Amino acid sequence: MLNLKKAAQTGLLLYLFIPLFASAQQFQNPIAVDANVRIGRLPNGFTYYVRKNVEPANRAYLYLATKVGSVLENDDQRGLAHFVEHMGFDGTTHYPKNELINYLQKAGVRFGADLNAYTSFDETVYQLPIPTDDPAIIKNGIQIIRDWAQEALLDPADIDKERGVVLEEKRYRSGSNERTNQKTAPVIFNNSRYSKRAPIGTEEVLTSFKPETIKQFYHDWYRPDLEAIIAVGDFDVDEMVEMIKAKFSDLKNPEHERERAVYAVPLNEDHQFAAITDKEHPTTYAEILLKHRFTPLVTEADYCDAMIQQLFNIMIYNRFQELKNKGNTEITNTRAGVGVYPGAINVFNANVTTNTPNLEYSLKAIWRETIKAAKYGFTKDEFTRAYNTFYGSKIYANQHRDKTKSLTYVNQYLGNFLRAEPIPGEWEELKLVQYFLPRVSLLNVDQFGNQFISCPNRDVIIIGPEKDKDKLPDMQTVEGWLNDVTNENTPKPGAKEDDKAESAKKESLIAKRPSKSKILSQKTISGVNVTEIVLSNGLKVVLKPTDFTTNDIRFTAFGVGGTETYSISDRLSAVNAIPLIRTSGLGDMDATQLKQYLGNRAVSVSPFLDRYLEGVSGSCATPNLELALQLTNQYFVNPRKDSVAYATYLEKSRLTSLLRLTQDSLRGRKNPAKISLNRAFDIYKERFANAADFTFVFVGDFEVKEIIPLLERYLGSLPSANAPSNSANLKPPAPASHRTRTTYSGLEQKATVTLEFLGDYSYNSENNNQFQALTEVLKIRLTERLRQQESGTYGTNVYYNLYSFPANRFTFTINFICAPDNVEKLTNAALDEINKIKTAGPDVVNIEKYKATNNRLMETQLKSNAFWLNYLYNQYLNKTDVSDVLNYQAAEDKVTPESLKTLASTFLTTDNYERRIVLPEAMKK
Ligand SMILES: [Zn+2]
Repeated sequence: MLNLKKAAQTGLLLYLFIPLFASAQQFQNPIAVDANVRIGRLPNGFTYYVRKNVEPANRAYLYLATKVGSVLENDDQRGLAHFVEHMGFDGTTHYPKNELINYLQKAGVRFGADLNAYTSFDETVYQLPIPTDDPAIIKNGIQIIRDWAQEALLDPADIDKERGVVLEEKRYRSGSNERTNQKTAPVIFNNSRYSKRAPIGTEEVLTSFKPETIKQFYHDWYRPDLEAIIAVGDFDVDEMVEMIKAKFSDLKNPEHERERAVYAVPLNEDHQFAAITDKEHPTTYAEILLKHRFTPLVTEADYCDAMIQQLFNIMIYNRFQELKNKGNTEITNTRAGVGVYPGAINVFNANVTTNTPNLEYSLKAIWRETIKAAKYGFTKDEFTRAYNTFYGSKIYANQHRDKTKSLTYVNQYLGNFLRAEPIPGEWEELKLVQYFLPRVSLLNVDQFGNQFISCPNRDVIIIGPEKDKDKLPDMQTVEGWLNDVTNENTPKPGAKEDDKAESAKKESLIAKRPSKSKILSQKTISGVNVTEIVLSNGLKVVLKPTDFTTNDIRFTAFGVGGTETYSISDRLSAVNAIPLIRTSGLGDMDATQLKQYLGNRAVSVSPFLDRYLEGVSGSCATPNLELALQLTNQYFVNPRKDSVAYATYLEKSRLTSLLRLTQDSLRGRKNPAKISLNRAFDIYKERFANAADFTFVFVGDFEVKEIIPLLERYLGSLPSANAPSNSANLKPPAPASHRTRTTYSGLEQKATVTLEFLGDYSYNSENNNQFQALTEVLKIRLTERLRQQESGTYGTNVYYNLYSFPANRFTFTINFICAPDNVEKLTNAALDEINKIKTAGPDVVNIEKYKATNNRLMETQLKSNAFWLNYLYNQYLNKTDVSDVLNYQAAEDKVTPESLKTLASTFLTTDNYERRIVLPEAMKK
């Protein structure tokens, strides 16, 4: 419930852009405001945004936005903007103590997943999604927003209880990132207020502030002229506006109110440098920042400038992607772009992650790309591609505006209220784009890049592991490198280079289209509207056409096998087979050619290989379905082996967790594992050799009769043994015995505790449903006990995994972070809660909360492609009835205190329980 780095993104959002050109007089009209949103301001200054939108139906999002964040804190209030946010859930006039959470859970709203809030430097935002088919819930929802706006009770006893929770949140967030952020903030924010107001605050203030201090903060800043309600959803707009007027008009601004100052990071026209090391920072990272003043977009001319910046961002992003893929071994990641940071600065950020503390090569490389863009701009080809991407996204948004999600609008209105971002709406925006875009030339973008990069405010920040402290360069060295590059006689990227890229470009993925096969059988399962097809090669396809999201198709395929099919000596080659395939391109195309060929078309297909399964997952827009199937086909029949690309990948991944984890898991076994390129490739081909092993699930915006001919051609033609392969040798994990395993890691006073129950299981929908209910009920109970009652942890995770494949097994896991001294106390509290369920059964009210939540969740999930894909995949993998989902309410009826008592007693026993604890390094004896 805290958002520290929200603004430090280099996305392509509109508000990220600054005006550039002195524009012609006639474009000084303000940017239009979307006519579909009702915006108003009450006499006390309270603002409202109200819009009807029915995606999803029967739901509304009510948000309270405040221009109140940590920059407004006095020195003795550091952390209290965020603390106030927490107190909004700990007692308000109409919902004392924890009644707010309690009431909403009964209405089917989850605490955390639905009901939430965040605090940042300049804002605090509270979010409340509610069902709208019950007028009482809407009315109470508005009351809750009003309670947050000015009626938090801030009771001293409740404050003391919450101190522990907020301190635990601070502990939860502590670590390498937090430590390095503290050291880079003074440079990035030029020692302004932003560098001294991390929203989480100081331990000193959080442990010892007096109730009057937080009350003063609340009184000074929680006032109608700094607040807005945003309401988007399936309701009557006139009624909503009336309710808002009736509820918020009497909010009062304080007498002699304090001025809400706007703080800006100063720009000193100089170069700054920081080289920071941290014991737990795993790689070497460097970034170059060029800082400009940000001013909001107001006029149509500003919009045009913003568009130019957006085109620049697309092109520079692509250039840095190429740099990353170029075959050098030092650069593991790199990107660049312009975006807005807190403190009204617009920043060009070029960064690089490397596997060596010697940064000369990588820093010079990213600065060279930057200078090249400034000096010579981009090519016509790059411009055309960026232009099409940008224009395509606007056309798409406009065509599908009736499917725009309510949350999308909420985020736009938050941006408008908090940061004065324009909200023209899809239609007006498309008109602006259609007017201005044809008038924008490559020259405009090149000029923008040149001006933005010629910047006197330049920071270089380096972060590395502590062990490299003496190896990192100092400021003088880095300045020398960058000056050398600036003065280099870089050759202008000439026509020749472009020609080469053009000639290498491939025109098609498949040399000869495979011929169509036939369907062996086809049946439709009514109710769930699923069609099952078996193709002549034995490959099975499951089709679920939907109209939930226009132009959205997702699919997954699985076959039984996976890396566990192979002996230990082959295992490392097996787990690296997929990276080999992914880095090697496909068919006749290397990775770069494949990327060029796909361009910016909305299509993504990737094969996978995990312990017991192999398969393909993908997604595409409807017009790209054939292309997606061609890619899938080629991953089966025409994978590519690129030894150069693969060697680069291996070198780069020396430090990545994948390789490390794999090596760790195999350590100490006989036959020390080696990776063989040829063996990895053969293993991949072996896993994808028999089409009859695979079941494909397609969900989304397609017609069955239109997809069938494509399936016959691209999947039906895959080679096959016509019967599934033998997969009898797979061994599932063994159940744990009762024990505690302790490991030591980390510098902070922080313990991570995992309690896991694991054992045999009978997989069926009734058991699964009981497990889900037990998980939700225990989650509610553990939040009350460990967070609210003991103030011992920021949050508790409870989750489960159920399988019938490769064997009938369950795992049930509880996980939390706490102070090392509290490990035993909180473990015992968690086990005590489980025991209570085993002996007395759970509280009836928590079962009611579970049912309310689950019913609300199912209403929306049954209209979600992602849900259906996951659901069908699991039903087919575990060979369970596809129609189960339709009976969820009947299954719910079988959840009773008695049934959960039995379930917990059967499965959560001490002889199949393991506790894993991670304690700080310093506690190792
Ligand atoms: Zn929080």
